[in-house]
Amino acid sequence: MKKDFYEILGVSKSASEAEIKKAYRKKAIEFHPDKNPDNPAAEEQFKLAAEAYEVLSDPQKKAKYDQYGHQAFDGAGGFGGGHGGMNMDDIFSQFGDIFGGGFGGFGGGGGGARRAKGSNMRIKVKLTLEEIANGVEKKVKVKRKVQAPGVSYKTCSTCNGQGQVMRVTNTILGRMQSASTCPSCGGSGQILDKKPNNADAQGMILEDETVSIKIPAGVVDGMQLKVSGKGNDAPGNSIPGDLIVAIEELEHEFLKREGENLHYDLYISFAEAVLGVSKDIEAVNGKVRIKLEEGIQSGKILRLKGKGIPSINGYGSGDLLVHVNVWTPKTLNKEQKQFFENALNDDNFTPHPEKSDKSFFEKVKDMFS
Ligand SMILES: [Zn+2]
Repeated sequence: MKKDFYEILGVSKSASEAEIKKAYRKKAIEFHPDKNPDNPAAEEQFKLAAEAYEVLSDPQKKAKYDQYGHQAFDGAGGFGGGHGGMNMDDIFSQFGDIFGGGFGGFGGGGGGARRAKGSNMRIKVKLTLEEIANGVEKKVKVKRKVQAPGVSYKTCSTCNGQGQVMRVTNTILGRMQSASTCPSCGGSGQILDKKPNNADAQGMILEDETVSIKIPAGVVDGMQLKVSGKGNDAPGNSIPGDLIVAIEELEHEFLKREGENLHYDLYISFAEAVLGVSKDIEAVNGKVRIKLEEGIQSGKILRLKGKGIPSINGYGSGDLLVHVNVWTPKTLNKEQKQFFENALNDDNFTPHPEKSDKSFFEKVKDMFS
């Protein structure tokens, strides 16, 4: 079980942005690798704190985390890597924001070039309610930047392949040697050697690729999923960026979604209401047959347990709420008119609501409880 991000930073759920930042600074200094050499436990704490901060400092990610917990980032359906596992480079690149500039690289002496990471790509995937309810695998075409066949890179002479140029600065941790990215190679430690004619100045070309995306059941409009390594490549000895997939939910013709529950408006005739009837409802995972008892009242809500949208966390499903509406005929022929005129004085047609015929407001209250 993954530890709660708030617990890791030692703040309450209501902590302000400033409090979260302050708490993280404290943890980052306490567990910093330079202060805890050869201490894997401290390194683990350092990474956990960075991961917690990365989420809690971003209002969008924080909101998602508050609602869905770690699942919001880990993805249930085979997403490589999900959110977890920030590497040290990611963490240090965050530090400019926390401690002010000039704090980029640590580890005086230069641990070699950091592998450049290609840029992330973003796409939108439109899903029907049925696809959301059942989970789906989508194949999307993307144009990725990749290294051209035949391209070669050589060691950068400005930084001798280190990717960084070192300088000494004063920081809140005292005098520290810090590094800035090499201006010649952009940090990769390598520069272009030979490239084919069709490649750009960095030796890159655009390539069509079909990426298969497994979307778990229960995703929500606006949610972002990450497919690791399917973004753009970077030149030289690098790792590709990620493909960020934003979920868009298409409107359904009959069903309205409300969290994990679905609502369906069912219209029945006056005669069906009086005599009782069976109806097929087109639910998200197939037809459901429901039986309406004779004498059913308009406004009745039938709850079909588990016929809604599955929880993204994998804990059960919502319900399908069928709202019964009795359709009143707008025109009548002579005999029908006669029939209803007779009914006006007939006690069988006079409303006698019982306790069990709850008011509309009580039903709504029930629905949200
Ligand atoms: Zn360089």
